[in-house]
Amino acid sequence: MIEQFNRDGTLRHLITLANLNRTQLNALLDHAETYLVGHAHYAPREPRLLGRTVALLFFEPSTRTRVSFHLAATRLSADVVTLDGDASSRVKGETLLDTVRTLEAMHTDVFVVRTAEAGIPALLAGHIGRGKALINAGEAHCEHPTQGLLDVLTIRQHKPDIRNLCVAIVGDIRHSRVARSAAQALGILDVGELRLVGPEPLLPDTNEFDGAVRYAELEPGLRDADVIMALRIQRERMRKEAGIPSNDAYFKRFGLTAERLKAARGDVIVMHPGPINREVEISSAVADGPHSVIGRQVTNGVAVRMAVLARIAEGLSGTP
Ligand code: ASP
Repeated sequence: MIEQFNRDGTLRHLITLANLNRTQLNALLDHAETYLVGHAHYAPREPRLLGRTVALLFFEPSTRTRVSFHLAATRLSADVVTLDGDASSRVKGETLLDTVRTLEAMHTDVFVVRTAEAGIPALLAGHIGRGKALINAGEAHCEHPTQGLLDVLTIRQHKPDIRNLCVAIVGDIRHSRVARSAAQALGILDVGELRLVGPEPLLPDTNEFDGAVRYAELEPGLRDADVIMALRIQRERMRKEAGIPSNDAYFKRFGLTAERLKAARGDVIVMHPGPINREVEISSAVADGPHSVIGRQVTNGVAVRMAVLARIAEGLSGTP
């Protein structure tokens, strides 16, 4: 496994949350909080990444993650370059490693990478030079560490006593990197109870998600939950859709509606990483309703990415 911390304790890469301890995770969340000022602003621009270059390499579609990394890097005064899958030389056959080497030759300091293939962020991190950093911005079905951070930050803001919370993740957990990273972060914070709720073909194998309880029916899975995290069905990650319900059938059985929300606690919060498929995994009434913290997750995403970049800035080599 790639070493994510430098010898002096500064953050070198962020590939996974799996091997962070509670102190390291809370330190990142606390740092993110410092960038959140009231409801209308982030903290003023900081010079931490002045003279540094951050490259956003997105080989899978992204709206929230890409834009928030861009905003986060610019708010820390970095120069930002963006490469999308189709616009890069990868379509001409260049390997990802060569693309990274090309950007390294242009003195890129931080690589933010999203890929549909598992293992790529760690592989690239193992090849980039000393004093350079890599952040995983979404890796196949496996990991999405900054999403996991923004999710637990959002939960902590609304319900700080995480050890006594019941969190229900609902939907396509089998193919979801969001669910995996959230479960890792919640595990590190010792969540009271974690439920995985969805139709059997969308639930993960039993040996994954240590300690979580599986529910193949929605209502029992939602009963008395403090937090509900709805997920999009990841049809793009399925080799065959046999056994996967149609959108209508899914909404009938697992769609989060105001009526179904009544099974949960009265002050339940409802989360969704986006993009939302309205009237598939969640009704508009719930997505836009009083329990929804979806907008807050997006706001927190910029702050969390600023915190990760700021921590990484401490370990970059040379003076910019
Ligand atoms: N935006 C999230 C991700 O990149 C969730 C999703 O696409 O459904 O994994």
